Amino acid sequence: MVDFRPILQDIVAMAQQESNKGEVADYIPQLAHVDANKFGISILNHEGNIHSEGDAKERFSIQSISKVLLLSMAFGLVGDKLWERVDVEPSGDPFNHLSLLEMENGIPRNPLINAGAIVVCDVLISHLKNPKQEFLDYVRAIAGDQSISFDLEVAQSEQETGFRNHAAANLIKSFGNLSHKVSEVLDFYFHSCSISMSCEQLVKVFYIFMNRGNCLQNKNYLSLSQVKRINALMLTCGFYDEAGEFAFEVGLPGKSGVGGGIVALLPNQFCVATWSPGLNEKGNSKLGMQALEQLTTATGLSIF
Ligand code: GLU
Repeated sequence: MVDFRPILQDIVAMAQQESNKGEVADYIPQLAHVDANKFGISILNHEGNIHSEGDAKERFSIQSISKVLLLSMAFGLVGDKLWERVDVEPSGDPFNHLSLLEMENGIPRNPLINAGAIVVCDVLISHLKNPKQEFLDYVRAIAGDQSISFDLEVAQSEQETGFRNHAAANLIKSFGNLSHKVSEVLDFYFHSCSISMSCEQLVKVFYIFMNRGNCLQNKNYLSLSQVKRINALMLTCGFYDEAGEFAFEVGLPGKSGVGGGIVALLPNQFCVATWSPGLNEKGNSKLGMQALEQLTTATGLSIF
C-alpha cells in the first residue's frame, strides 16, 4: 500500500514555494474575495483511510464540480434516456464559452459544460418535487455528512451576473430542450454550483465513482456501467478545453471548478481532491493541476 503522507507533504511544500499561483475567478463577484494563498489536498483510499494536508478542512465553492453530481443523480433516475437530451462528446471550449457549436439543435455537447448541466437540471426538475432540497439531500447522503450546504450569497451573486448562462438557457429553450421555465432551471443550476465543501468532504462524495457506485456507508447509487460512463465523461470533458492536457499530465478522470477545486480518482484505488483558488488561463486551478501531476508521477498511479 502506498504511503501518501510524504508525497502530500512534498506537494504542499511545492505549493507554498510557488510564486505564481494563478488568478482567482472574479466574474462571479462573491468568489473574488477568496484568499489566493489557500491550498489543501486530501486523499481517500479504497479502504476508507483519509490523508490530508494544508487547508483540506476549509470549505470552498465547488462550482462546476457539482455538474458530476447532477449528472449522477439524473443518470441514476432516468438511465440511458438522459442521452436523448445531452450528448457525450468533448467540447474543447473554455468554461464559459457560448457558441452554437456547444450544441446541435439544442442538444449540448456533454453534461459537464454549462449548457449540458442546465439541461440535466431541467431533467431533474421533471423528476423531483423539491429539486434543490432533494439534490442537496442526495449529496449529503453520499458523503454521510448532513452539514454540506448551499452558499446562498454565491448563488445570489451568480443569479445577478450569470448573463451567459441566461443566454445559454434561453437558446436551449428556443430549441425546445427545456421543459421548465428558464428562471426555474437557472435557480436550481446556480444553487447546485454554489454548494460549498472541503477537500475532505469532496473525496467522500466522489468515493462512489471510485468504488463501483457504492458510498463509504456501502449503499449503492449507480450501476457499474453508469460509473464507467460517468468516469469516461470526466476524463474527456472534465477540464474545459484542457481535458487533453489533464489526461496527459495527470492521467485520471476528474472535474474542476472555477472555485479552484479539482477532484480526481483512480478506480478501486483512491480519490483525491485539491483546492487552490488561483486559476490558469484555461480556468483550472493552477497549483491543483501541478499537485496532481506531482502525485501521479511520484506514485506511478494513473489509469494509464
Ligand atoms: N457556476 C459557474 C458558471 O456557470 C460554474 C463555472 C465552472 O466552475 O466551470 O459559470
